[in-house]
Amino acid sequence: MSPKKLKINFHKKFNLPSSDQILHALNTPASYESLQADLDFRYDKKSKNFQIKTLSLNLFLKKIRPNDTCCLIGFTEYDLYVEDSDLFVAGLCNGNLGVGAFSIMRYHPKLNFSEENWFEYKQSKICDDKTWLMRSCRLMVHETCHLLGLAHCKYKDCCMNGSGHLKEDFKQSMFLCPIDLKKLWLILGFNLPERYENLKQFFVKNKCEKESKLLQKILKDLENFE
Ligand SMILES: [Zn+2]
Ligand SMILES: [Zn+2]
Repeated sequence: MSPKKLKINFHKKFNLPSSDQILHALNTPASYESLQADLDFRYDKKSKNFQIKTLSLNLFLKKIRPNDTCCLIGFTEYDLYVEDSDLFVAGLCNGNLGVGAFSIMRYHPKLNFSEENWFEYKQSKICDDKTWLMRSCRLMVHETCHLLGLAHCKYKDCCMNGSGHLKEDFKQSMFLCPIDLKKLWLILGFNLPERYENLKQFFVKNKCEKESKLLQKILKDLENFE
């Protein structure tokens, strides 16, 4: 199959939602015609693995970003890269476009991959969904905060700590430190007890005992503080 043909068949081959399905879900003003450009990707014939070029995803997100949003983030289970020399990337923010695209693929707890070739990876069918969900949530919070203007945190154990590799990433805190929480509050102006209550409900629903207990304690402290 020629690269051109592969490109045309990309959405069909990998069962991606069609542009009009995405438009409908987002209720965005972009027209279907403006979304005809396909995503750039690279494909390894032998392994049949592929990676999507992150910038092409971000340009796509920019097109469908509704006017009344401050940013739009895309998350995918497909693997991503930026430069040809990359093994993979977790994602890329384009702050000037107000968009970011991220992949949770390499965060899979049962993924074995080569440190040399991007196309050499194998995912076990047995999956620890909870660990994958928690890692993905942490990535989502970290990157959303970046898009909202928060930099890496040097102060405390924090979801906004910078990391050089996945192992470091996985050790990071699930929560923001008080300094970054205050920054986020100044940007978004949320109700703090309400935020913690929503977070607690999320962790209870996903059977994360440690996080639920911590949030319960914080909520109690807040009650006493008031
Ligand atoms: Zn970061
Ligand atoms: Zn912090």
